[in-house]
Amino acid sequence: MRVLKFGGTSIGSADNINKVINILDEKSKSDNIVVVVSAVGGITDKLLEAANLACDKNLDYKPAYEVICLIHKTIIDELFLNSEKNLTIQTHYTQLHQIVSEKLSELSRLLDGIYLINELSPKTKDKLLSFGEGLSSTIIYHTLKSRQIDVSFKNSQDLIVTDSTFNNAIVNFGITDKNIKTYFDSSSSAIVLLPGFIGKSLRGEFTTLGRGGSDYTAAIIAANLEAKELQIWTDVSGMYTTNPKLVKQAAPIVQLSYQEAIELSHFGAKVLYPPTVLPVLKKNIPIVIKNTQAPKAIGTTITEIVVPNGGSPVKGISNIDKIALLTLQGNGMVGVPGFSKRLFEILAQEKINSILITQSSSEYSICFGILEEDAARAKEAIDLVFEYEIQLQKIDPIIIETNLSIIAVVGDKMKNHQGISGKMFSTLGKNNVNIRAIAQGASERNISAVINKNDVKKALNCLHEQFFETKTKQMNLFITGVGNVGERLLEQIKQQKAYVKENFKINLRVIGLSNSRTMVVNDDGINLKHWKDELKDGEKASLEEFFEHAKNLNLRNSVFIDITANEAVANSYANYLKESMSVIACNKIACSGDINYYNELKTLSRKYNASFLFETNVGAGLPIIDTLNHLITSGDKINTIQAVLSGSLNFIFNNFNADTTFHDVVKQAQQEGYTEPDPRIDLSGIDVARKILILARESGNALELSDIESASFLTPKANSSESVEDFFKTLIEDEGHYQHLLKSAQKSHCQLKFVAELDNGKAKVGLKEIPEGHPFYNLEGKDNIVMFYTQRYSEQPLIIKGAGAGADVTASGLFADIIRIANN
Ligand code: ADP
Ligand code: ASP
Ligand code: MG
Repeated sequence: MRVLKFGGTSIGSADNINKVINILDEKSKSDNIVVVVSAVGGITDKLLEAANLACDKNLDYKPAYEVICLIHKTIIDELFLNSEKNLTIQTHYTQLHQIVSEKLSELSRLLDGIYLINELSPKTKDKLLSFGEGLSSTIIYHTLKSRQIDVSFKNSQDLIVTDSTFNNAIVNFGITDKNIKTYFDSSSSAIVLLPGFIGKSLRGEFTTLGRGGSDYTAAIIAANLEAKELQIWTDVSGMYTTNPKLVKQAAPIVQLSYQEAIELSHFGAKVLYPPTVLPVLKKNIPIVIKNTQAPKAIGTTITEIVVPNGGSPVKGISNIDKIALLTLQGNGMVGVPGFSKRLFEILAQEKINSILITQSSSEYSICFGILEEDAARAKEAIDLVFEYEIQLQKIDPIIIETNLSIIAVVGDKMKNHQGISGKMFSTLGKNNVNIRAIAQGASERNISAVINKNDVKKALNCLHEQFFETKTKQMNLFITGVGNVGERLLEQIKQQKAYVKENFKINLRVIGLSNSRTMVVNDDGINLKHWKDELKDGEKASLEEFFEHAKNLNLRNSVFIDITANEAVANSYANYLKESMSVIACNKIACSGDINYYNELKTLSRKYNASFLFETNVGAGLPIIDTLNHLITSGDKINTIQAVLSGSLNFIFNNFNADTTFHDVVKQAQQEGYTEPDPRIDLSGIDVARKILILARESGNALELSDIESASFLTPKANSSESVEDFFKTLIEDEGHYQHLLKSAQKSHCQLKFVAELDNGKAKVGLKEIPEGHPFYNLEGKDNIVMFYTQRYSEQPLIIKGAGAGADVTASGLFADIIRIANN
C-alpha cells in the first residue's frame, strides 16, 4: 500500500489531471494505492478572496465566484469532451455536471449569506474552504470512473475527526485511527480517492487542517495503514536546497532526514506542510517528494537516515515571508521570573505560533517572530496581560515591526562543524543585509535570522552561493554610457565570460545598460550577442529609473559602471554606494570635483562595504592608482610623482617639428581623435591637472583643482578664444610663439613634454623641456608615464609606462576594476 498526495499545482488544469491519471493508472497495477487530492491550484485562495469581498459588502464577490465556477467547468469539459463518446463516459459526464452544479449553487448561497450578515467567522471559513477539495476530488473520481479505473471515493470527513479549532484543527487520533482502520479493512478497490485538508469536528462541524493541510491528511492515512511510502506529488522535483522560485541555482536534495525536513518546512519550504512529517516519522515510513510534470525525476526521499550533502553540512536554506517581530522590553523584567511564562501563555491561549524567539542575556528584552496577520491580535492580548506593569512603566507597550522575513540555514550535521553561523552572518553582512534578530535552535540543526522582506531574494542567493556553489561568484553589472569604450568593454566581457567563469569562478552578468537615449534592464542577464538591439528597443533612458531598477532588483555584488563624462551621472554615485552597490567610474568628474564629494564617496564606500574604483581616470588601463594604493597600504610614503599623463599632448609634441606648423599638428590630432572635439580641453592642461589632482588626493593630499598650479603654454589670445574655430585661427596667427618653444627646446637638445608633478603636497602642470636620457625623453605616440619617488623607491623611481589612451585599453582598465571587486 502506498499513499499518494497530489497538490493543487498538480491538478490545476485538465492536462495536468490527465498526467495524474496516467501516474495512478500505472502505480495501481503493482500496488493498492490511496490518493489524496488538494483543491484545484489557486482555488483555496480564490474562495477566500470571494468570501472576504462578500464579508466586506463588496459585490465583486459575484464575479469572483463566477471565476471559480468557470475554472471547474472548463476542466470538466476539457476532461470529457475530448474523450470518445461512449455510454459510460456520457453517464459520468452528466452525473458529474449535476453534482458540481449543485455544489457550486450551494457555494453561491453560502457567499450570499456571508454578504448578507456581513460576517465571516472561522467556522464559516472552514465550511467555505471545504468546497475546494470537495469539487476537485469529485471531478477526479468521476473522470477515473469514466475511464473504467477501479476506484472508490471516500469522504475524508467520515475519517478525520478533529477538535473545533477552526482553520487549524487538531486531529483526534483516537477516533480518526479507528475510522481509518475500519474503512480500509473493508475496502478492496485498487485505488481509494479522498479529498485532503478537510475534517469534521465531534459536533459535526466542517474543519480544516491548516493551509497546505492535504499533505497532513495523506500522512495521517499513511501512518495508520503503515504504508510502504508516502508520496507527495507537486510541481517541483523534490525539496530544493532553497526556494527554487527565488534562486535559480537551487537544486533538489536527494536525501533528507525527517528532522531536516521538519526544520526546512517549518521555516518556509512550502513544498511540505510541517505537521506532515510527525505521523510517518513514528512509523518510519519514507516520504518521497515527486514532480507530476516529470515523474521520472528522482525527487527527494525523507527517512531517518542522515546523509551529508557532498562536503557541506548545510542541507537547505528556507524563508518565511510576512513576519512581524514583537519586542517586549523594560527594566522591570530584569531578574524577575515569570515574564516569559506569562508572555508565551497568552500567545498559546490566543493560538498564536511564535516561529522564532530570542532573549537578551540581561533579560531586559524578549523578542519573537510571528506571522504578520497575528501581530495586531498579539499586541492587544499582550498589552492587556501586562497592563499593570506598563502603567507602572516597568515595561514598555509591546513594539511591533513588520515587513520582515525569516531565513533559516538547516542541516543535521551543522552541530559538528564550526563556523557555519560565522559564514552565514559575514555573507549577509558583506551583502548589506541587515539582521534584526537571530536564533539558533538548541539542536544546532538550524540557524535563523529575521531580515527585511526586500532582502530575502538577495540573502537566499548569496547564502546559496556560499554554502552550495562556493565555486562561482556572480557579478551583476549596470553599465551606463556605451560609446566607444563601453562597446569595447561589452565585447571584452562577451569574449572573456566563459574563461573568467572557468578559471576565476566569477560569473559576469550585464543586468542593465543605458546610453543617453534608452536603457534596458534584464534580471536574467542581457544577451551580449544582441545587446544593441535590446538597448535600441529599451525604455526611455532615465538616470533615476536606472538606479531604481538596480536598487529594486537588489542583486548581490551589484556594480554600477559609469562610462560617460556626465556630471549628473557622477552625482548619482552616492545613491548606489548607499545601497551597497559598488561604483566603477571612468568619468573623472567625481574624483576631480569638489573634495567634499570625493571624501563622501570614500566614506560611503567604507560604510556600506561597497567598492569605489576609478583606475581609468588616470592613464586609461595602466595600473597607476592601484599601484599607488598598494604603496600606501603597505606603509610607503609618496615623496614625488612626475608624470606625462596626456596622450593627446604627447601626440602633438611628438609630431611637431621644423617641417610642420603647430596649427596643422593640432588639427591632425583633432581629426584623428587624439584630442577631444574641442582641443582646448587638452591643450589648456585642465585634463592633466585633473589627473594629477586625483593622484594627489589618493596620496593623501586634500587639494582642489584650483590648488593645482597650471602654466599654460598657449598664448593669451588662444586662451581667451571664444570658439574652436577662433582657437585654430590664433594658432595660425601665433605660430611664431610655438615655433619659438620648439626651437628653444631643440637648441638645448630637449624634447617638449607636458608634465604633471606632485612634490611635497604641491601639484603643478606645465610644458617642460626634457633633456636626453630622461625617462620622459623617448615617450612615444600616446603613451603615458608615471614615476613614483617614495620612501622605498627613493633613488630610482617606480615607473609605469604604456598606452594611456584608447578605447581598448580603457575598457581593459574597467575590466580589471570589475575583477578587483570580484576578488575583494
Ligand atoms: P502543492 O500545490 O503541490 O501542495 P505547494 O505550492 O504547496 O504545492 O508547494 C510547492 C512549491 O513550494 C513549489 O512550487 C515551490 O515554489 C515552493 N517551495 C518553497 N521552498 C521550496 C523548497 N525548498 N523546495 C521545493 N519547493 C519549494
Ligand atoms: N487547498 C488547501 C490549501 O491551498 C490545502 C492544500 O492544498 O494542501 O491550503
Ligand atoms: Mg502544498
